[in-house]
Amino acid sequence: MKLSPDQKKVSEKMRPGVITQGGFLGDDTRLLPEIIQKDEERMEYLKTDWDMVSKVLRRFLKEGKKGLGEPITIDEKWLVKVDESRGFLPCPFGDGLHRKTTVTLKNKTNDKSLVYTALTLHLLKNHHFLQGKGSFFRLEPDTLKEVLEL
Ligand SMILES: [Zn+2]
Repeated sequence: MKLSPDQKKVSEKMRPGVITQGGFLGDDTRLLPEIIQKDEERMEYLKTDWDMVSKVLRRFLKEGKKGLGEPITIDEKWLVKVDESRGFLPCPFGDGLHRKTTVTLKNKTNDKSLVYTALTLHLLKNHHFLQGKGSFFRLEPDTLKEVLEL
């Protein structure tokens, strides 16, 4: 597999220290399109719908803000904590800026949890990009399914 010039540019922006300190690819040795393709296959295998996932994550982000930085319980099952810092981060695909909002989400029934940001939610929704293995903000399809119970 060879990267197109556009994919090359995007991959460069995903390296550590360009947009975020840790970058988006972790220690994954696969190329960007392959990471996306494998996660699309896994999501399909799990019968987990991208749009449904992003809709639920968006709702938790919005509802969780009402906690003003403190954890709140939603639908008696999910514990959600939203932290907001000043400033914005650009999407490495070059289509917009996102607030530095971090969401910590825990399913109280099975004790599974995940962390996402406004930017990683956008990457999931618009680019089907869940980040490379080893990246701190990597969203595993299996974890998404377990935490959200979708
Ligand atoms: Zn984007």
